[in-house]
Amino acid sequence: MPDIAIPNDPARAIAEGAAASAPRLVAIRRDLHAHPELAFTEQRTAGVVAAELSRLGIPHRTGVGRTGVVGLIEGGLPGPTLALRADMDALPIAEQTGLAFASRAPGLMHACGHDVHTATLLGAAAILRDLAPALAGRVKLVFQPAEETLAGAAAMIADGVMENPRVDMALGFHNYPEIPLGGFATTPGAALAASDRFEITVRGVSGHAAHPDVAVDPILAAATLVVQLQSVVAREIDPFRPAVLTIGAIQGGVAHNIIPDEVVLRGTARSLDEETRTRIEAALRRLCEGVGAGMRAPCTLAYHRGCPPLVNDEGMRRRLVASVAAQFATPVEERAPSLGGEDFAYFAERVPAAHLAIGSGQKGRADRLHNSAYQPDEGAIPLGAAALARAAFDLLRPGAG
Ligand SMILES: [Zn+2]
Ligand SMILES: [Zn+2]
Repeated sequence: MPDIAIPNDPARAIAEGAAASAPRLVAIRRDLHAHPELAFTEQRTAGVVAAELSRLGIPHRTGVGRTGVVGLIEGGLPGPTLALRADMDALPIAEQTGLAFASRAPGLMHACGHDVHTATLLGAAAILRDLAPALAGRVKLVFQPAEETLAGAAAMIADGVMENPRVDMALGFHNYPEIPLGGFATTPGAALAASDRFEITVRGVSGHAAHPDVAVDPILAAATLVVQLQSVVAREIDPFRPAVLTIGAIQGGVAHNIIPDEVVLRGTARSLDEETRTRIEAALRRLCEGVGAGMRAPCTLAYHRGCPPLVNDEGMRRRLVASVAAQFATPVEERAPSLGGEDFAYFAERVPAAHLAIGSGQKGRADRLHNSAYQPDEGAIPLGAAALARAAFDLLRPGAG
């Protein structure tokens, strides 16, 4: 065995590393917060990430999956490659926090805390760079664009992020204001939903509202279809398999006395497993055909499969829980699944992966993600960095396999 500097008290080394970089990470987060960028336009953000990785002496590539950045920390011993993934994009929300470092981009805001995520992964990078001689394997730092549109992970994978070196396992994370600062949670099995969207075009025949008999009313057909669609989850899906079917937009008609030619419905279907997902899509198709035929208004369905369900690998999840519990000497909670989507699922589809929920709730506040007044507790940054660094350290311990 070569002589390797393995800290005999990793919890302490990691906690000290996180504490040392906390002020810098908070400053980076505030800078990112003031300059939010939407999906696939994260040029400035990618520049901040690249500059920080350069400062840390971590080799990296930019422009992976358009605006993504990938860094690589090479361990002192051979071993597997672990990907740590953060997302970087903001939302089209007008910020209402009144903070000194509030968004300077009108109509855009880091309301999902991806500014916190980016800073957190930079913090983990700084700690792991210092621990690198003790690692058996390497850490690939994945700064992903466009999570909110669920398109960034696929773009990075298409651009080769899982290769050279080949990724063997992955960890993702998200801040959650409903978990108080200092808390962590994971979800066994499927944690987040398959997220699909669809568009239904209902074709009628326009005419005078006073003479519906010589027209075909697509509004009545669309209304019937909206009601019928609610029977899919209520009556066709196993009650023990969570699913949601929501129509979020209806467009059609211009005046009180005209039957229009067309109505367009847009919606989303969510589920935690492929079988349920396939059943929902089939039921949608069948009801579109049935209502269309029954009401003489053909309903055309365009169904777009989005990201798959995010399924935690149980072995990885247990190792993650053990590491976080050991780092902070606190239990890691179990969290119920959510029908929100998260495109870390594309990584988890390819390699054993686990996703960590990091508490970001400030005392005395009741924040929500995607809310214009969202204020995560910045203490989540060094805590998250320490959690990720510890998990990586344990997964890449010599002989950890
Ligand atoms: Zn979000
Ligand atoms: Zn998010």
